[in-house]
Amino acid sequence: MAELHILKYPDSLLQKVSDEVTEIDQEVTAFINDLVETMRGSTCVGIAAPQVGRLQRIIVVDVTPKNPGHGELVLINPEITARSGKRKGREGCLSIPGFIANIKRSKKIELSALDRHGKPVEIEARGFEAVALQHEIDHLDGTLFLDHITDMKRDLLRRETVTD
Ligand SMILES: [Zn+2]
Repeated sequence: MAELHILKYPDSLLQKVSDEVTEIDQEVTAFINDLVETMRGSTCVGIAAPQVGRLQRIIVVDVTPKNPGHGELVLINPEITARSGKRKGREGCLSIPGFIANIKRSKKIELSALDRHGKPVEIEARGFEAVALQHEIDHLDGTLFLDHITDMKRDLLRRETVTD
């Protein structure tokens, strides 16, 4: 296993739409193990495959550090099937270090996906876990949490990035 290199904003791969996984073979399984290890080596509670430059619909979320009792979720081809409520909370992203913003998300979601063995799963999540899932699934469509904030704030961020 190996920790993978995390792409940073504004890398163009972070803004691409990822492909569905059609076969979970040994190579994909090895990649998932590396992705989990990469998340564990960071301070983040989730990671998506495109963040390490692989445009496939795979995410890992584990909010246990913030909400004890939750387990590790490895989800392949996740699709949100229902949403309810609204919730505003602070979010950061491994690919946008040093930047945190208040983002509005659905409070509760339901999703369907495959687990790491290819078995279909239905997940219901709320609160912080639901937010983490929405954040990571966004990555699969090339959407960053920046895209949820106002243009004015985004311009400010761009300026800071340029002078970095
Ligand atoms: Zn992120």
